[in-house]
Amino acid sequence: MSDTIFGKIASGEMSADIVYQDDDVVAFRDISPQAPTHVLVIPRKPIPTLNDATPADAELLGKLLLAAAKVAEAEGIAEGGYRTVINCNAGAGQTVFHLHLHVLGGRPLQWPPG
Ligand code: 5GP
Repeated sequence: MSDTIFGKIASGEMSADIVYQDDDVVAFRDISPQAPTHVLVIPRKPIPTLNDATPADAELLGKLLLAAAKVAEAEGIAEGGYRTVINCNAGAGQTVFHLHLHVLGGRPLQWPPG
């Protein structure tokens, strides 16, 4: 479970600015924020990429999204608008191979993303 940075954050081996956690997910501020609010939501379970999620993970994936909405509300960006992003594999920019959902907001966001 602790083989990536995010696994270590989930287990408490590494520190992070945690904004929400429960039995299944942990949400913490990105170390290199790309927006005034930039939080990462991860499952405690170490799923490397979205491609590795299985039907058995369906409830967990739903919990990630619900946690993202909870974080957005707590951060005060729910009404103004925010974006959730999952980068899957290196070609999409994934650098940490522990599934994570970015929650970005607090500034106007352009579409399409780069
Ligand atoms: P990815 O590019 O894999 O979708 O996103 C990984 C994110 O993790 C990046 O936005 C990066 O800034 C963030 N990150 C990398 N290492 C750390 C760390 O040690 N702590 C925190 N809080 N964020 C990290």
